[in-house]
Amino acid sequence: MKLWEHYYTPTTIDEAVALLQQHAGQARVIAGGTDLLVDMRAEGAEPHPALVDITCIPELSQIDADDDTVTIGAGVTHTQIVKSSLLSSRATCLVESCGVVGGPQVRNVATLGGNVAHALPAADGTTSLVALDAQVEVIYEDQRQWLPLLDLFLGPGQSLLDSTHDLLLHFCFPLTKAGEATAFKRIMRPQGVALPVLGCAVWVQLDEARTHYQQARVCIAPVGPRPVRVTAVEDVLAGKPVGAATLEEAVRTALDTLKPRTSKYRATADYRREMIAVLLRRTLPLAVERAQTGEAIPEDIGV
Ligand SMILES: Cc1cc2nc3c(=O)[nH]c(=O)nc-3n(C[C@H](O)[C@H](O)[C@H](O)COP(=O)(O)OP(=O)(O)OC[C@H]3O[C@@H](n4cnc5c(N)ncnc54)[C@H](O)[C@@H]3O)c2cc1C
Repeated sequence: MKLWEHYYTPTTIDEAVALLQQHAGQARVIAGGTDLLVDMRAEGAEPHPALVDITCIPELSQIDADDDTVTIGAGVTHTQIVKSSLLSSRATCLVESCGVVGGPQVRNVATLGGNVAHALPAADGTTSLVALDAQVEVIYEDQRQWLPLLDLFLGPGQSLLDSTHDLLLHFCFPLTKAGEATAFKRIMRPQGVALPVLGCAVWVQLDEARTHYQQARVCIAPVGPRPVRVTAVEDVLAGKPVGAATLEEAVRTALDTLKPRTSKYRATADYRREMIAVLLRRTLPLAVERAQTGEAIPEDIGV
């Protein structure tokens, strides 16, 4: 089955943009192809006129950091992320979420940019990027600009970016410092589907004594058409002592606030509600422990 007519491998961003412009809506960006090629095969339509592969652009395949911030190219693979010792210790939830995407073959080619550009609210990499408060650099409406990550999501599978014209370039977020830590966990069906029943990523900042939450960010997904921060839970945590009472208040608030839906492939709404409680009880204490001890060793890495 022929899937495309022309396949381009530009080595610069300018070249990729020029190819997209030249084909005026008839060329589409491809990275690892683990979502796009599956969709193209399922659609079984005519071969696509042109694909523009961004994985040969060195600028998009790097992880760069200074003391406080990391910038990750959209073409960085899940395996690259999992293997980064910097991200393991200072963006642990991202390593945990990228480490459970597919199997090793998928992770070796699938990119963080593709995970986000596909715009599914359940995508594992996206869930952690939301908790990390990531910004994205894009070429959107012919302007190179930075946007909040959440601005990209319009609905399930619907991105602000038109992948026949726009480009996702980089992600940027603050690395965790002393007293801060993150954790990610998900509930997955054992076989047959690519996306989780539910995922949860948290970022916590504790006070100097490491006994109280100063701030927290929580992303539980999918609980709606777009990924969201659970701000009601974040508000409950701020200023409260770490420990069982605050955790249970956070769980009650999440259950009052979030309305997951039934998915015929993954889980019922009732099951997902139960898993909200399970995931918060797993991730929040883990992130707190990491923030208290300063030791962040990722769990559930499947490599
Ligand atoms: C067997 C299998 C298991 C999987 N398991 C999981 C899982 O557990 N969790 C999970 O979250 N996902 C899973 N996936 C989905 C997929 O692997 C990930 O979403 C992956 O990160 C997609 O990245 P990619 O580079 O392959 O994207 P591609 O398929 O190349 O692209 C996806 C979409 O994004 C667009 N795009 C890609 N890069 C850019 C860019 N830089 N700028 C603009 N548009 C762009 C493309 O045009 C396309 O629309 C699985 C897939 C398979 C096949």
